[in-house]
Amino acid sequence: MTMKSPELSRRSFVKASGSLALLAAAGGAVSTADNLFGEVEPAQAAAEDKIVWSQCNVNCGGRCIFQWHVKDGKIAYMLTDDTGNDDFQARACLRGHAMRQWINHPDRLQYPMKRTGPRGTGKFERISWDEAIDTIADKLKYTIETYGNDSIYINYATGMYSATGRTTERLMNCLGGYLPMYGDYSTGMHQYVMPFMYGVGVSPYENVSASSVDQAGKADLVLMFGNSPADNRMGGANVVWDYARVREEGPEIIHIDYRYNETAAGHPEEWLPIRTGTDAALVAGVAHELIEKGWINLDFLHRYCQGYDEETMPASAKGQNKSYYDYIMGTGYDKVEKTPEWAAEITLVPAKTIRELARKLHEANSVYVVQGWGLQRHSNGESATRAVCMLALLTGNLGREGTNSGMREAEPPGAPVGSIPSSDDDPNGVPENMVNAKISCYSWLKCIAEGSDFQKELDAADELALFMGAQDPEAAAAAAKIEAPKNGIKFLWNYAGNCITNQHGDVNRVFETLSDEKKCEFIVVCDTFMTDSAKYADILLPDAMRAEQLNMSTNGYSEYYWGVTVGGPAQEPPFECRPIYDVHAEIADRFGVKDKFTAGKTQDEWVRSIYEEGAAEDPEMPTWDQILEQGVWKRELPTAIAFEKNVADPVGNPWKTPSGKIEIYSEALEKIASERELSEGQVISPIPIFDPGVEGYGAVTSEYPLYMSGWHDKARTHSSFGALEVLRDYNRHRLWINPIDAEPRKINDGDMVRVKSPAGEVQVEAHVTSRIVPSVIAMPQGFWHEANMESDKLDTGGCINTLTTYTPSPLAHGNGPSNSIIAEVRKV
Ligand code: SF4
Repeated sequence: MTMKSPELSRRSFVKASGSLALLAAAGGAVSTADNLFGEVEPAQAAAEDKIVWSQCNVNCGGRCIFQWHVKDGKIAYMLTDDTGNDDFQARACLRGHAMRQWINHPDRLQYPMKRTGPRGTGKFERISWDEAIDTIADKLKYTIETYGNDSIYINYATGMYSATGRTTERLMNCLGGYLPMYGDYSTGMHQYVMPFMYGVGVSPYENVSASSVDQAGKADLVLMFGNSPADNRMGGANVVWDYARVREEGPEIIHIDYRYNETAAGHPEEWLPIRTGTDAALVAGVAHELIEKGWINLDFLHRYCQGYDEETMPASAKGQNKSYYDYIMGTGYDKVEKTPEWAAEITLVPAKTIRELARKLHEANSVYVVQGWGLQRHSNGESATRAVCMLALLTGNLGREGTNSGMREAEPPGAPVGSIPSSDDDPNGVPENMVNAKISCYSWLKCIAEGSDFQKELDAADELALFMGAQDPEAAAAAAKIEAPKNGIKFLWNYAGNCITNQHGDVNRVFETLSDEKKCEFIVVCDTFMTDSAKYADILLPDAMRAEQLNMSTNGYSEYYWGVTVGGPAQEPPFECRPIYDVHAEIADRFGVKDKFTAGKTQDEWVRSIYEEGAAEDPEMPTWDQILEQGVWKRELPTAIAFEKNVADPVGNPWKTPSGKIEIYSEALEKIASERELSEGQVISPIPIFDPGVEGYGAVTSEYPLYMSGWHDKARTHSSFGALEVLRDYNRHRLWINPIDAEPRKINDGDMVRVKSPAGEVQVEAHVTSRIVPSVIAMPQGFWHEANMESDKLDTGGCINTLTTYTPSPLAHGNGPSNSIIAEVRKV
C-alpha cells in the first residue's frame, strides 16, 4: 500500500490524473502483488497496445479500479488505481489482482447447456443459444399463463456489479412483473430492525445514520464489535485503509470478537475475546455497571429516547416494568439482574474486564461504537444489533464529533451515475413491477417448499406504515394491499449468484426441496463458472465478464470517495459467452417486446446515456468523450456524523419513528411480537435484550458440544474467486480450533477433520490456534460446496452452509442463523 504523501491532505479535491499517455507512462510501476500472481515483469509495459479501465465487479463493495493492459487484443496484465491522492486510490487487493486468472480461467463456462441429470448433480449437455432462448421463453410463457407472474422469482445475486449487469427485472417488467424481494444476505436483520429504533429510511448504507471512519480518528475510544475490514474490505480507498489512518491518530481501539482478527493483528492488546453470539450480554453487563456507578447520560436518554426508564415509556407500556432499565436491573420481564458476573458467565469476558470497559466508556469524551455485520447474522441478531447501539445511547455518544450510532461505518450516499433501469418514466416504456407480493430474500426456499400455503410477508417499512396508519394513511393502505404469492415460486432466475446453495442456509435441505421438480419447475442460471448453484440449472448460460464489455461502475464502500469508472472491452468474450443484456433482449424478442426492453438502445448506448444523465446533474463531471479517454473520475465526499442534525435539533428533525424519538422500546415491535407465530426458541423483543437464539448460547449438547461461527476472509468475496487455485493456496481453507478444544480430540494443526452439525458434515483441515476463544470453532464462509448428493453428501469443499440450519430469523425472515451453529469435530 502506498504511504501517504505528506504534502497532500486527505480532504483535498481529487480528480483522475489524466490521459492515457500519462497513465501509460506510469505503467512501469508494477506492484509486488502483480508479481506474486505471476502477472508481468515491468519490461512488458513498454510493449502494451492500450490501457482499458475497469472496476472489480464482486460484492466486497470496494469497487477497486483496474487498469487492464492489453496486447494483441488480450489482457496481458493488470495494474490498479494510481490516480489522484494516495488516500483515494481504489487499489486492488490480492483478490482483485487475481481477476485476470478468473477471466482467462480454463474452467469458464463456454456454451449454453441444458440439464441431463437430476438437479444439483451437475450433469449437462451443450445446446445452441437458439434452443436455450426458445426453451426459456416457452417456460416463461407457460409459467405466466399457468401460475401468474408472482410465481417468477429473481434470486438474490451479487457476483457481477456494474451499470449493465442486472437487467432481469427490466425484462420481467416487460412481461407483466415478477415476485420481488426485500432485504439482503449481508445485512438483513440489521436493515430490518434498525428502522424500529432509529426510524424509517435508516439504512446500513447511508451516511446520515452512521459516521464516517475519520470520526473514529477524532474519538478517544473506538469500540469495534465483530468488525474486521482487513479480512473483507481490504482494497485501497476502502475501510481497512481508513482504519490504518485512524490508528495513526491515536484513539484506544478495542476489538470485541471471538477471534483475533486481521484488523487487530499486530495489536494483541486491542483484542477483547468473547464467545460468539453473546455481544448483547456483554452490552447488558456494561450497562449494569454504567447504571450502578451513575455513569449514564440521563439527560441524553430523556431528551432523545423512548423506553430507557419508566419516565420515558409510552403510555401503552407504562407501569409494566418493560423499560430497558428494568431489564438491566432485574425488575423487568425475566427478573434477572444483568450484573457483570452474569455477563461474564455467558460471554467468557471476565467481570473485571466488563467493569473496566464501562469505566473507559465513562471517561472518554467521545466514543465511536461500530459493528460489523457478522453479529446480526446470528439467530438472535435482530436484538443483538440494536444492543450494540445502546452503548452509544447510554453514554450520549451520538450526533457529535468522534461518535457513531453503533451501526457500521458510513458509506457514500448513492453514486454519480445509475444503471439500466428496471422500468421507465416514459408511459410508453417499461412499466413498474405489477406484482403486489414480495418475500424476504432468504424466504425463497420456504416459498418454494410451501407453495400456495406460503404466508404474506411485509418488510419493516410496511410493518411500520401499518402501525402508524393514522399518521400515514397512504403508506398504510399500500402495505395493506400486499399479498402472498399465490402458487409459491415456479420459475427461478439466478444471474451471477451462488445463493441457491453455497451462500444460502442448509445446502442439504436445498437439495431435497429442489429435487422435487413439481415444486420449482424451472431454473435458469447465468454465470461464468460451474458453481454449486449452477448445478441446479435447467438451462445454464455462459456470461461475459465485465472486462469483456464496455462497462461502467461507481464508487463502493469508502465513505470519502465518490466516482465512476468507464472502459472496455479489454478483450472479447471467449467461446459463446455473451452479455446478459443481449440475452434478455433476445428473450424479449420472443415475446414481441424487444423494442420496449431495449428502448431502441444497445448495451453500449445505454452506458453512454446513463453516464450522460448523471453528468447532466453535475457540471464537474467529465463529458462522455473525456471519461472514455481518462477512464476514472473521482471526488472527495465530506465527513459524516451520524444523526448530527437530529441531535442538534430534535424538534425540527425528529427521528422518523412513531414517537419521533430513538425508540429503545418499540411499541411496533411489541405489537408484531404479540401477533407473529414464532418457531421454538425464537424471540422478538421490543427492547434490545440478550436472547440466546436458536443454536446459540446454551444450545450445545453432548452430541454437538461446540459453538461454531464463520467469517469473510481474504481468499474470496463471499464465494466469488472460489475457483482460483492461487488464492486457495495463498490463504488455505482451515477450521480454527483452540488448543483447549483440540487436545482432548487429539487434533493437531494441519490434521484433516470432520465437522458435524445437525444439518450436515464437512471435511476440512484443522488450524489449532489460540486466536479463537475456547468452546468456539470457526471457518470462513464462501468455500465451494463439493459433495456427492446422490450418496453420503459429505462436503469435502468445506462450505459452511452445509452446517447451517435453515431457520429464517423471527423478525426479518433473514439469514440470522448463518453464524449460529452447534457442532462437533473429530479427526479423520
Ligand atoms: S475484492 Fe474488494 S478489495 Fe479486493 S479488489 Fe475487489 S473490490 Fe477491491
